[in-house]
Amino acid sequence: MEPFQTPVHCLATANCPHCGTRLATEMVDDGTTVLCAACRHPFIFHPSTDLRRFSRKAVASLALGLASTLFWCLAGVPAVVLGVLALIEIRRQHDRLKGGELAIVGIVAACSLGLICTPILATFLMPAFQALRSGK
Ligand SMILES: [Zn+2]
Repeated sequence: MEPFQTPVHCLATANCPHCGTRLATEMVDDGTTVLCAACRHPFIFHPSTDLRRFSRKAVASLALGLASTLFWCLAGVPAVVLGVLALIEIRRQHDRLKGGELAIVGIVAACSLGLICTPILATFLMPAFQALRSGK
């Protein structure tokens, strides 16, 4: 008895070196010359099978970095710590993890928002400090 067969379409993607368009095609052998659907330039296809997943630390760093608008250093400090840990983790397992950009955005967001918020926080706290000092 003939087993039921379903054709499996495995898509491979690559960027056209001429126009930069991201192209998807059914799995072809690495090094096959293909024609770009956008600019009609032939090019040698090197499929980039990106099976890496985003680092959870990097995602958390980005989320906390953005959350530091509301929670200042409560979110900003862990955002920087997780961002740095994510970058180390991604560098060590670069074939399995991605999201370095997310971690950097998280760190930058946490730092810049922290820097913006610190003077605001200081203007709120200074009168309280002065009141404490003059009260003695
Ligand atoms: Zn092209």
